[in-house]
Amino acid sequence: MIDLRSDTVTRPTPAMRAAMADAEVGDDVYGEDPTVRALEDKVAGLFGGRHAGLFTPTGVMANQIAVRLLVAPGEELVLDADAHIVAHEDGAAAWHGGVQTRTTLSPRGLLRPDDVARLIRAGDQYTVGTKAIAVEQTHNRGGGSVYPLEQLRAVRELADAADVAVHCDGARIWHAHIATGTPFAEYGALFDTMAVCLSKGLGAPAGSVVLIPAERMPEARRMRHRMGGAMRQAGILAAGGLYALDRHIGRLAEDHAHARLIADRLTEDGLDVVEPETNLVLVRLPESGPAAVEVAARCREAGVLVSAFGPRLIRMVTHMDVDVSACAKAAEVLAGAAR
Ligand SMILES: *Cc1c(COP(=O)(O)O)cnc(C)c1O
Repeated sequence: MIDLRSDTVTRPTPAMRAAMADAEVGDDVYGEDPTVRALEDKVAGLFGGRHAGLFTPTGVMANQIAVRLLVAPGEELVLDADAHIVAHEDGAAAWHGGVQTRTTLSPRGLLRPDDVARLIRAGDQYTVGTKAIAVEQTHNRGGGSVYPLEQLRAVRELADAADVAVHCDGARIWHAHIATGTPFAEYGALFDTMAVCLSKGLGAPAGSVVLIPAERMPEARRMRHRMGGAMRQAGILAAGGLYALDRHIGRLAEDHAHARLIADRLTEDGLDVVEPETNLVLVRLPESGPAAVEVAARCREAGVLVSAFGPRLIRMVTHMDVDVSACAKAAEVLAGAAR
């Protein structure tokens, strides 16, 4: 099977497994796992050293810890209507934290500064006040779209003027760095909190890191504990993340080239493809043809797995476990299945 449903399907390489097997471990609830510590420090350092890192089992938990640190129950978070935090986390912000979200539809999921300015509110006797803005870099439902640095800076300026915090859901921020060359520290300088994922394009089996101000760490550790995410000898997992950070970032350029190849092939075939910027390809199916679930089922029959991402929308995600010939074949199969 050629699996393009998500970059989460990547499996640890033999060398990564060896690094995991060799990891020095301890009880991380006691703060005694040296490999977890090394990972948390490495990620914090990579993004400029302004934050402290906390290892979490999932990206959802990393996002939710950040949201809870920035926004109290009954307060407001402003974000794009298709953001992972509001569209793919099962209502977690409301469930865990009573957080009200205020959303706006944005081109390819990237918040426009004018919209942000319109949405932020100070709050009064009747109106809940905005406490944080969340951006997603790269944007999943936007098709792996990348915020230009200038747009992020404009959002940051508006937030500063209103005394509002900014969180970055950077599950795929690695891809933004590869696509634009923007140093990680430039991103780190812009956000109060960030969530970055090790188990997607980077290929580790599990884990994310949430970056937060160091003085909030005791609160963040308690939140992680309450959510059931305080793990013991988690260094086994963290070692996979460390290995991936050292060896799997540069190679993401290949995944971007493969996404481009798929998109070009489908465009040649007359399909409506959202311009890929990183490793995601969105295909808008013609009204005249089969619906997305049917197209996905046909692809599966032919040995290719894709996601039905909407009634007439297909998502394909390139990653380290699919090579160029697999991507070419997948494009061929999808082109046939879509008519
Ligand atoms: C995958 C993803 C997450 C986190 O998902 P987990 O499956 O919990 O690791 C968060 N944000 C975005 C944009 C994602 O794509």
